[in-house]
Amino acid sequence: MTTAAPSTVRPVWADATVRTTCAYCGVGCQMTLNVKDNLIYRVDAPFEAVPNHGNLCVKGRFGHDYLWHPDRLTTPLIRRGGRLEPATWDEALDLVAERFAAIKAESGPDALAFLCSARCTCEENYLMQKLARQVIGTHNIDHCARLCHASTVSGLVQAFGSGAMTNSIADITAAKAILAIGTNTTEQHPVISLQIKKAVRQFGAQLVVADPRRIELTQFAVLHLQHRPGTDLALLNGLAHVILKENLHNTAFIAERTENFEAWQAVVEEYPPERASEITGVPAEDIIRAARIYGGNRPASIFYAMGITQHTVGHQNVLAIANLALLTGNLGIPGSGVNPLRGQNNVQGACDMGGLPNVYTGYQRVDDEAVRQKHAAYYGVEQPPARPGLTVTEIIRAAGAGQVRALYVMGENPAMSDPDSHHVRECLEKTDFLVVQDIFLNETGELADVVLPSAAFAEKEGTFVNTERRVQRVRKALDAPGDARPDWEILCEIAQRLGARGWDYADPEAIMQEIAEITPSFAGISYARLENDGIQWPCPSPDHPGTPILHTARFPRGLGRFNPVHHQDAAELPDDAYPLMLTTGRILEMYHTGTMTRRVSGLNFLAPEERVEVNPQDAARLGITTGDWIRVSSRRGSVTARAWVVGRVLPGLIFMTFHFAEALGNILTNGEAIDPIAKIPEFKVCAVKVEKVPAPNGH
Ligand code: SF4
Repeated sequence: MTTAAPSTVRPVWADATVRTTCAYCGVGCQMTLNVKDNLIYRVDAPFEAVPNHGNLCVKGRFGHDYLWHPDRLTTPLIRRGGRLEPATWDEALDLVAERFAAIKAESGPDALAFLCSARCTCEENYLMQKLARQVIGTHNIDHCARLCHASTVSGLVQAFGSGAMTNSIADITAAKAILAIGTNTTEQHPVISLQIKKAVRQFGAQLVVADPRRIELTQFAVLHLQHRPGTDLALLNGLAHVILKENLHNTAFIAERTENFEAWQAVVEEYPPERASEITGVPAEDIIRAARIYGGNRPASIFYAMGITQHTVGHQNVLAIANLALLTGNLGIPGSGVNPLRGQNNVQGACDMGGLPNVYTGYQRVDDEAVRQKHAAYYGVEQPPARPGLTVTEIIRAAGAGQVRALYVMGENPAMSDPDSHHVRECLEKTDFLVVQDIFLNETGELADVVLPSAAFAEKEGTFVNTERRVQRVRKALDAPGDARPDWEILCEIAQRLGARGWDYADPEAIMQEIAEITPSFAGISYARLENDGIQWPCPSPDHPGTPILHTARFPRGLGRFNPVHHQDAAELPDDAYPLMLTTGRILEMYHTGTMTRRVSGLNFLAPEERVEVNPQDAARLGITTGDWIRVSSRRGSVTARAWVVGRVLPGLIFMTFHFAEALGNILTNGEAIDPIAKIPEFKVCAVKVEKVPAPNGH
């Protein structure tokens, strides 16, 4: 018998375990941070907790080194003599308040604009829109939801009266059929993809994936519709056409719960599968088969993301999805619904908190006189005029034109995340006074006049709202580095310096109490009730259990409305000068503009650089093999990156991300092309050319 040598590894026991909500994507996974010496040693996920039941993706499990990265901002910075130099909090906050007051006095409140954040808590977003509206007096507030799901909000409000995911993550397994269109779920919402895979493998759901790329989810699908980017409307109308022709529609639901059916039907008549096939490139028989799967099984659910929304017809795309659900009566029951998957951790909450130019909290319209009077009475100040403020794309342009003179950016990086990045930087440089509040000095911060260091998610209290409308707690596990402070505290300091009253909140819980008082859909929400699994809004009273499924008995607008929509080409299609089509998206290991994930060594190891996906046919014609350096150029600029020759993109199509500043896809995208209703830019389609180039120096 041998005796094991005594281990030299000393066990490390956590000083504390803190339950909180993941700060990456909109799934809102619950996690337990095991903390010792102000470091996170391990991340677990509680099995009993919704929505993830013990699952986490690679970012949630291992993506937290950035919290103690040496690049963290630890002190305020003020630009002096062209350089950003350390300053005290009093110096920085006094300067911000002084300049805001001066610009408002000289040019009026609309000369200021605010970008709140899908990364920050609900309480912080609430305070920023309160600062804009109640202290400065402008509706010029928006955030990056404009760049991802603005068309979801506008489209679903038009169709149903409410712009959020209708069903819950838990009831995905109740679906007999699932249509996933324009969502690379396994990479963008990994834990929701597990639920979809479970619905297929364990519960026998039939999955149809519609995507221009052969994404991983297609391995679980009975059918992949590989349509050309920008042809979703024709595909969706084609599906509806077949469902009608084959009498798979739900006549009772249409009669009892919808309106405008006949007008819509006349338009859909024009999209037989053969015509839809011609536009989309999908064989007509596959369109017929997909229609039979979605229309012939009940309940059936639809999932979509930015492949649908980031188009000049994003609003119409969302309407076409809503039409399909109304046609088949797939609303108001488990396993059905229209389910937009929100991208960032609290993009839902930032919208819910009124971080949009046309609504106060809970989507109370700024142009509704009763709403204005209610807010005037509640806050005791006159409200801004009853017209929406500027959207983020309009704010940037107005900054370039000298109309927006001061811009306050909290937890966003428009210099990198917005389309046509060169132009965005030029506009930001023209502002008289740019304030950036963040955890790192990002590309926008480098242009700022004042930089304010903020606390990250694990360093503060608050709430996030996930994609299924679940309000969940965020809890403090670590101390923020240096002098960094929670965003809500910084906002209160600025408001108080501007002479505002009622900004002496003891903590974020007190802010949530105020949110509940002024917001009907949050009226029953309090920290005490959020302790375990959170609550899905609407939650109109303290004894209401929350709402896992919307539209069970009626739509907020009364009847669901069919909206006729027609195919329309993308704004910029390939031509002789730019013969390829570029579409953009994200990858599993990286997140958004990479501010956090590129400072996590393990994630950087897995995904160290941009890889431009090029179809083998195009690669052969251009003499390109995997690993070659290529230059991708559009009418707006050029970027250089390595090629990845891979059959998962269609011939004529290339794919890039916007994670890597040195090879930024958004330099190429078409910022001028904007959905006229939702004002969302067309990230998903633009024309480019590709050339093989020598490796840059150092490679
Ligand atoms: Fe975080 Fe989203 Fe991954 Fe869940 S799926 S761990 S919320 S990044």
